[in-house]
This record gives sequence, C-alpha cells and structure tokens, in this order.
Amino acid sequence: MVHNFNAGPGILPQAVLEQAARAILNIDDTGLSILEIGHRTPLFEGILHKAVSLVKELMNLDADHEVLFLHGGASTQFMQVPMNLLNTNETAAYIDNGIWGSKAIKEAKLFGNVDVVASSADKNHTYITKTFSVPHNAKYLHYTTNNTVEGTQWQHIPESNGVSLVADMSSDIFSRELNFNAFDLIYAGAQKNMGAAGVNLLVVNKNILGKVDRKLPTIMDYRNHIANGSMLNTPPVFAIYVSMLTLQWLKDLGGVKVMEAINDEKASFFYDTLDSLPQFTGPVAREDRSKMNAVFVMKDPGLEKLFIDYCKSLNLYGIKGHRSVGGFRVSLYNALPLSSVQVVCDAMKAFASQHG
Ligand SMILES: *Cc1c(COP(=O)(O)O)cnc(C)c1O
Repeated sequence: MVHNFNAGPGILPQAVLEQAARAILNIDDTGLSILEIGHRTPLFEGILHKAVSLVKELMNLDADHEVLFLHGGASTQFMQVPMNLLNTNETAAYIDNGIWGSKAIKEAKLFGNVDVVASSADKNHTYITKTFSVPHNAKYLHYTTNNTVEGTQWQHIPESNGVSLVADMSSDIFSRELNFNAFDLIYAGAQKNMGAAGVNLLVVNKNILGKVDRKLPTIMDYRNHIANGSMLNTPPVFAIYVSMLTLQWLKDLGGVKVMEAINDEKASFFYDTLDSLPQFTGPVAREDRSKMNAVFVMKDPGLEKLFIDYCKSLNLYGIKGHRSVGGFRVSLYNALPLSSVQVVCDAMKAFASQHG
C-alpha cells in the first residue's frame, strides 16, 4: 500500500487507473486500444462530448461559457491568454502570489502592458494579498486560485472592480464550489486534480473573444477551437479520456459540493495535526492555507532529511517540498483518501515523539 502526495502529476482515483489501463488494451469491447482509434470516430467523439458535458454540469456553467480541451499545460495559457485578450496598447492587471503567477506575468508582458496590482513577494509568498485595487480600465484581472508551490489559496473570489476575471485553477479545479460563471476565463492543466498530463481545460466566456487587433496563428486562436469543438487538430486523446473518467468519478461521488466537504475534512485533519506538533511548523498564514497543497517545515532543519527517509520507509511518496521552498509539501488532491492523510499524520506524530 502506497500513499501518494505528489504535487503534479498527482494521484488519480484507483478506479480511473484501472479503467484507463483496460482501455489501453481494449476500449469498450472494440478490440482496439484507446491509443489507436481515430479522434474523429464516434467512439472518441462520444468521449470528448461526455467530458465537455461533465465539465459544464460539475461547474454549473451558463450558455455563454465554452469548454475546450487544449494541448499544452497551463504554461501555454500564460501566453495564449494575453495573446487572445490583450492588445499591445492595453493593460492587464495581475496578482503575483507565487511562482506560477510570476511566470504568467512574464509572458503577458510580451503582448501588452502588465500592472501587478498585488504581490506577496515581500514575504516569500507565504500569504494572499487581500487589499489592492484594480484599475477599472484594465482588460482583465489574472490570479492563481491555489499556489501549488507556496501552499496558499484564495478563499474567496478577489474584488475585481468590474474587470473581467481570469484564473489559473490548475491545482484546485473541481476541489470546491465557486461561482465559475463569475469568471470570463479559467484554465487548468489536467495533471493536478483532473486527469493525466498533456491536456489543458479552458473555460471561456465567448463574448470576450475577437477583440484583439493582432493576427493570431490558427491554433492559438480560441475561436477556432470553439468552432471545431476542440478538434481543430488531433487532440490529446488519452489525456482527455482519463479526464473524462475522473470527472465521471467525481460526479458519481456527488459532485463538487461533496468533494469540497471531503477536502475540508482532509485539510482540517492535516493542519490540526501540524499545529499540535511543536517540532513542525507551517510558514503560511493560517487563513490563507491551501486545502490542496500543505507546505510545512521542521523547526530543526537538521531533521528534515531523516523525516523524508522515515516517510519513504512507510511508502509515503511525494512529501518533499518544491526545490524553491524546501521543507515538505503534502498534496491533498481530490483523489487522495482521508486514510492517506491519517497515515502521514501518524508518521508526523511518531517522528515528533522520537525527536521531542
Ligand atoms: C502545475 C501548474 C502550472 C504549470 O502546469 P504545466 O502543465 O506544467 O504547464 C501552472 N499553474 C499552476 C497553478 C500549477 O499548479
């Protein structure tokens, strides 16, 4: 029995893995592999259609919001978003709460002006910036809902002063209820909470498109993907299939609301344990703690390697913190069962009592 706390690609439901494994050999009793069927076959069109309708249902999207499955990870969206939305002489507002947001800012500057309206860089991104103002003439406000590396998470939708909201939800998509229709654009790489690496979910309000002057390469223009139903060219067939299975798993579980209650329970269990052990400490402001990626360190850094080794001996995988932050990170994604959280907490308690 292993416990998978990897930050990304991360844990997937066991039932999804089993079904995906079967489909690699023989999908739907066709005798063919999911890897060797045409993307324009009724079989794959059915899979894609189902994936799209599950997203619409689970996110409660209105008719203006289109759902696309695109190539490339979230990093591609760092440039594709401003390319589609921002004219050279216009300004977009960005919140810089961590590594991923900073990367998005860097790319946006290639296409127009960027106004960094808030940054938590002064405290190593260990908190969420809540007081700032967005100029009403900004083209959009971009932020990262959950900071995967730093372990912070927005607990509410930021006040955007009427400006269009754009969010990178790569690491907390489908983990909690939100008014998704409040966003004009949402993107998320699949490999944290939705499926296998290689596909990106994009939800876009179609009314915001077609307003930039620049010429867009065909494959970069969201409108072409909408017109072709995510089949402008060969889509990442297998990655979409795994996303569809994971979304179906989520729906069968009861949807995002039920998932949120489970995630709340897992996060409380973890953070309560963390706070009860003086040997461990979390650098993140309590109210901004992520329910998806819990970042923590040891008061005595000299013990960190020992703890990692101890976790390895217990088959706890992916505990090591991001190389830029150090310490530890426990990812509590949707597919991680509460029992795994209990196991890592027991390990922390046992380790703490040995090194009291
Ligand atoms: C992982 C991650 C990314 C990058 O995803 P890629 O698929 O590697 O491009 C971007 N944003 C957030 C919030 C992430 O967690």
